[in-house]
Amino acid sequence: MSKVALPGRLDIPPAVLAIATTLQEAGHDTWCVGGAVRDALTGAPQSDFDLATAATPDQVQALFKRTVPVGVEFGTVGVFGEDKVLHEVTTFRHDVSTDGRRAVVQWGASIDEDLARRDFTINAIAYHPLRHEWRDPFGGAADLLEKKEVRAVGKPEERFREDYLRILRGARFAARFQFCVEKTTWGAMTAEAPGMAQLSAERVREEWFKMLRTTQSLVWATKLWRPLIAKTAWMPELRTDDPPEPPAGLHRDPVLLTVLLAGEGAVPLLTRLKCSNADIARAKGAVEGPEAPLEMDDRATRHWMAAVGTSEEDLLVLWQLRHGTPAPWDHLIAEIRRRGETTSRGGLAVTGDDLIAAGVPRGPEIGRTLDRLLALVLDDPALNTREALLARARETT
Ligand code: ATP
Ligand code: MG
Repeated sequence: MSKVALPGRLDIPPAVLAIATTLQEAGHDTWCVGGAVRDALTGAPQSDFDLATAATPDQVQALFKRTVPVGVEFGTVGVFGEDKVLHEVTTFRHDVSTDGRRAVVQWGASIDEDLARRDFTINAIAYHPLRHEWRDPFGGAADLLEKKEVRAVGKPEERFREDYLRILRGARFAARFQFCVEKTTWGAMTAEAPGMAQLSAERVREEWFKMLRTTQSLVWATKLWRPLIAKTAWMPELRTDDPPEPPAGLHRDPVLLTVLLAGEGAVPLLTRLKCSNADIARAKGAVEGPEAPLEMDDRATRHWMAAVGTSEEDLLVLWQLRHGTPAPWDHLIAEIRRRGETTSRGGLAVTGDDLIAAGVPRGPEIGRTLDRLLALVLDDPALNTREALLARARETT
């Protein structure tokens, strides 16, 4: 294993350092661990530094005035720092039993045992914020900075059987950094993939969404996911060809990216992943479209806006995802808005009550008449006056 030169010091935010100092001075060994250490080493923007400590959750709660029991059963206590932000402090743990869905953990471990239960070598590096010491027992720094690969800590099949979510996490990290997965780890990921069937929809969804939000390349992510997903029944709807590569920096919306990757299959897929009704409804609107106006003119654009309603913005983003350029009717929408032209029934110069007063029979005929009037106004916005519409309503009823 090649030796990677680790920086002499990491910049630790003062509030995190203060928490670590309090714990350390009370006699509890305390380290920075996890994603933020990894990201500090690659120079990626960091999430908050998680602290791992020998102190038990009770001891952590006793040492700080303001704490929140974020996940005490897993040993995690949130501590409010001097920056008024909640920082996570987790007691060193080791797994006592695992059933493929969740690990049962126990405290009273050392930093080395704690690192050994982590999923991938790149996530199993610790930095001591006061002594400026490193712990990298599995060669995570070399994997991260030189080999650029995702490798399981310990025996890959065992680690995946303990918690099948690690398979998806591995793909997620590889997608995010555009890393490969180390050969043995990849073999175990694909071999153990059927075990993902026993995961909860919520955990699968969380990984899927995080993967979509963070991957550097949708094509890369798809190559990783495809062989894994093919072995479970979670997402059979995903397209099997390479997706388009969205323009860099385009807002990463997991619902829309799922529509891009699964087409109309996005609706059953998101339903299976127990997404919110709001997200499922958004996917439905985006799938139903229509994708674009029939012509690139004002009239057709108004009709399109009326047809898609609240899905307008989503469909514009989807167009951009699919074609790599802004929708060519984008400027027409802006002008329609600027001129204040209506594209919905609510913006008509007459209401249902006006129609009743004008003699249109109550009941479904009212809605049908409003739709007819809207269609006329979409063709010609100048018709959107009370007089003109009432006259048309009388004519057509
Ligand atoms: P992200 O930037 O996505 O938050 P992260 O590495 O911080 O990446 P988290 O899910 O926040 O990921 O987890 C924090 C750390 O906890 C990981 O770096 C890893 O060491 C450990 N970890 C998380 N989930 C698991 C798991 N299922 N099995 C083993 N270790 C895990
Ligand atoms: Mg994290």
